[in-house]
Amino acid sequence: MLPDPESHLQRLTIEDFLKSISENRKQNLYKAILFPLMPFMERIKATWIAPDGMPNILIVKNAAIGETELRDLIQTVCLAEGLLARSLEAQDLALKSLGTSKIPKTLGYFSVAKSYIMWSCAHEVFHYLRRHALVEKHFGSTPETKHALEYDADLCAAAAFYRYLQHFSAKKSSIHLKKATLQLLYCSLRINIDREVHMNFSGSNTHPHTAARILDIAGKLAMLNDFGIADTNFEAESTRNDYEKLASLIANLELAYIKSLDKSKEFQSSELFSFAQKNVELEYTLDRHKRWDEIQPLIDQFSIFSRRQIDNEASIAFIGENFSLPR
Ligand SMILES: [Zn+2]
Repeated sequence: MLPDPESHLQRLTIEDFLKSISENRKQNLYKAILFPLMPFMERIKATWIAPDGMPNILIVKNAAIGETELRDLIQTVCLAEGLLARSLEAQDLALKSLGTSKIPKTLGYFSVAKSYIMWSCAHEVFHYLRRHALVEKHFGSTPETKHALEYDADLCAAAAFYRYLQHFSAKKSSIHLKKATLQLLYCSLRINIDREVHMNFSGSNTHPHTAARILDIAGKLAMLNDFGIADTNFEAESTRNDYEKLASLIANLELAYIKSLDKSKEFQSSELFSFAQKNVELEYTLDRHKRWDEIQPLIDQFSIFSRRQIDNEASIAFIGENFSLPR
């Protein structure tokens, strides 16, 4: 018999995963970090269309960070145990660059680590809820399509995270919560840039560059309002004002971050600033945005049907006929 390559991976519910940790301190720490995850998933379920319900969330014991996966067909999101360790690294980095007082306490202690896990999980959940596997099956796995789907999952996850904070902090102003969201997600994602040293600004075959993803989050947050329909064309003055505030917040966070890397140097070069400067004409993101514009109506359509209704060639073709299909 061939060895099962996955046999070392145990997929456990959050409860069983926590029970499986023998070290007390670690168990309590992980418990605290995972605490807001299920209430967050409940909020997503209550506010987004989920015709097949929400996917199950499992933790893969001993798995490295890259082993987080969406098992679309069996409706399961598997988070690698390694994510928890990484979320604590993100928390440490935030402490080092911002100091305790500047990290939003919206989620209590370990806000950054909690956000890191919530963000990672929501991103995968939206790949599922928005039927990205089927969209990809329909449109083919070109880098533009893959990037557009990542972009779609990011935007939904950012909006859901903001709405979650809003739900539990109703008295805070929207700009306050947008800033808190951006700060927490910046700290969650920024850690990736230094690990992607070989990735160029156009991103990999599957994912956009992290700098692009952070800047996209700011744009998405700016266009959200309390009237239901996002101001995608930045028509309202409030959208433009919010964007200005969020962009300057990113600049401040980035300055603090690069300063904390090496205090002996006056100025460290910043990948994020370089990206922003070079992408003024959308050199690196135009194809992805175009692709997203093309396929987003289909994603919206797919997300309102149950998987059973759309996962066959005939119905895909039928839904497809209602669109002028690109290419
Ligand atoms: Zn993804």
